[in-house]
Amino acid sequence: MTGTLGTPVTNWAGNVAFPGPLHRPRSVAELQSLVAGAEHVRALGSGHSFSPIAATPGDLVTVADLPRRIDIDADARTATVSAGSTYGRVGAALHEAGFALPNTGSLPHISVAGACATGTHGSGDANGVLATSVCAVELVGADGELRAFRCGDPDFPGAVVALGALGIVTALTLDLRPTFEVRQWVREGLRSFDAVPEALASAYSVSLFTRWRGEGFEQCWIKQLADAPTPDPAWFDTTPAPGPRHMLTTEDPANCTPQAGDPGPWHTRLPHFRAEFKPSRGDELQSEYLVPRESIVDALHALDAVADRIAPVLLVSEVRSIAADDLWLSAAHGRDSAALHFTWVQDIAAVTPVVTAVERALEPFGARPHWGKVFTTDPSVVRSLWPRLADAEELIGRVDPAGKFGSAWLGQYVTPARHQL
Ligand SMILES: Cc1cc2nc3c(=O)[nH]c(=O)nc-3n(C[C@H](O)[C@H](O)[C@H](O)COP(=O)(O)OP(=O)(O)OC[C@H]3O[C@@H](n4cnc5c(N)ncnc54)[C@H](O)[C@@H]3O)c2cc1C
Repeated sequence: MTGTLGTPVTNWAGNVAFPGPLHRPRSVAELQSLVAGAEHVRALGSGHSFSPIAATPGDLVTVADLPRRIDIDADARTATVSAGSTYGRVGAALHEAGFALPNTGSLPHISVAGACATGTHGSGDANGVLATSVCAVELVGADGELRAFRCGDPDFPGAVVALGALGIVTALTLDLRPTFEVRQWVREGLRSFDAVPEALASAYSVSLFTRWRGEGFEQCWIKQLADAPTPDPAWFDTTPAPGPRHMLTTEDPANCTPQAGDPGPWHTRLPHFRAEFKPSRGDELQSEYLVPRESIVDALHALDAVADRIAPVLLVSEVRSIAADDLWLSAAHGRDSAALHFTWVQDIAAVTPVVTAVERALEPFGARPHWGKVFTTDPSVVRSLWPRLADAEELIGRVDPAGKFGSAWLGQYVTPARHQL
């Protein structure tokens, strides 16, 4: 995110501009009064989404300047963290206190509220989206009052991955586990799509990278619990990377988390990128689709059929796995999933038709787009892909009847009857 109150604001990648002012309240009371007085308002997290998901016809607000909170309840094994905290900051504090989260996304730079709002995920057959660690959400509602949704409330599964539609989140309570160490290796040359399900299942978290220039994966990033066995030397007929790797071969591997099996705390190995450096490339676009995990080999072959369209505008693709959950708007809702990710060159005119070609290839698999990335899936198709989307729409209508947190984007995909702004 760039910009301050009164100056132009864009997302991290610079492909979405937010016309409205960006407010930076310094207390929850200030935020409450801002929300109560606003006609339309939405939150911007760290701005790492590529879709205009945070856009509003009214006021944009960041919670980054609210007082920082990381309140750990060791007995309950929970931590209540301020919504604008980054995973990097939260991870370091939790580890220091002997605790951990089960997983992270590829970068620690994103805010906890923004990541959870969009269903951001890492990898691992047994690891859910990051929002599955949330057990309570505190937010400022449309009337300016503070309210909470807690695990066990009937509306809770609609309130965590909520796309910013229920209010401005001020804090989230996260379930913790004891801290743990992870080792990461990079292997090269996984040739066959058929090996993908077994490869994804072979470690705590596995990411497979391809540039769609021939079947197979140039790099395989394996993140294993430190006390688990080292991957077999013959791991799927691959070879160990001879030195540190960046998945974007033009970028500096020093920006990536340590490899070669060097053990370290979970928050310094589960992300691909180090908190203190720029993640990925910057001048890029991203798209991602989640398909049922059992479809992954067929989905890869379907994409291979359009590889000659993909490769010229692609920087890299990544395949990951995610466990099913019950969160109404999570892309892994109700199904163990595999994620097919694309980092594109930053040329929306060249990329858009290829995104559409990818979506056509993945249509038979019920591919759900990542809410925070670029997609062209027809809104009616999007609405058919999430079985609890109508419940989410009902909840949004009940909690925010005047559409204060609504937007044209939300109206297109989630609340067509209400928010045609
Ligand atoms: C380099 C890079 C790598 C990425 N890697 C991954 C990855 O590994 N896995 C993955 O799934 N995604 C990944 N993403 C996508 C990213 O995780 C999501 O777009 C995520 O939402 C970004 O969080 P944010 O804080 O930047 O949210 P923003 O983009 O700022 O906002 C996203 C949504 O959250 C809402 N929101 C933010 N804060 C609040 C709040 N306080 N209250 C209410 N609503 C709020 C906004 O209104 C908006 O609707 C990546 C993105 C980049 C740029």
